[in-house]
Amino acid sequence: MQNKKIEINYCIYLSSEELTEEDKKLVLQARAISLKAYAPYSQFRVGTAILLSSNKVIVANNQENASYPEGLCAERIALFYASANYPNKKIKTIAIAGNSELQITDNPITPCGACRQVIAEYEIKQKEKIKILMTGISGKIIAVKGIDNLLPFCFKMK
Ligand SMILES: [Zn+2]
Repeated sequence: MQNKKIEINYCIYLSSEELTEEDKKLVLQARAISLKAYAPYSQFRVGTAILLSSNKVIVANNQENASYPEGLCAERIALFYASANYPNKKIKTIAIAGNSELQITDNPITPCGACRQVIAEYEIKQKEKIKILMTGISGKIIAVKGIDNLLPFCFKMK
């Protein structure tokens, strides 16, 4: 038997002003699109902005449904759209921003387990790490380079 340890690496930026121009733009786009989410049940709105290797940006937000499980996270809507329409482009960065009518969300939100698994799939497919920027409607940003920092032991077929 061997004891093993996994280390994760992340950066914290105190505001979008500390980011590169490219990352700042994505974070602001994720925050902006979060406000248009269809979230009448949870009032929790999430926006995502994905930067592709072609410099195309794809934005999406969460979509809820009265039949709860049929809704979908902002991240997966954007990721599936990117893969459906630009299958040969790499995903460089995904910015994720959350906000709620019920409370001020100036703390970063992080993607759910299912979205982490989907990010992992595209990262494996493109053989290049994806930068993930996580934030609230304002305030600090947590950044990781590579989904292994959020989902060690992701599911793989081989
Ligand atoms: Zn999710």
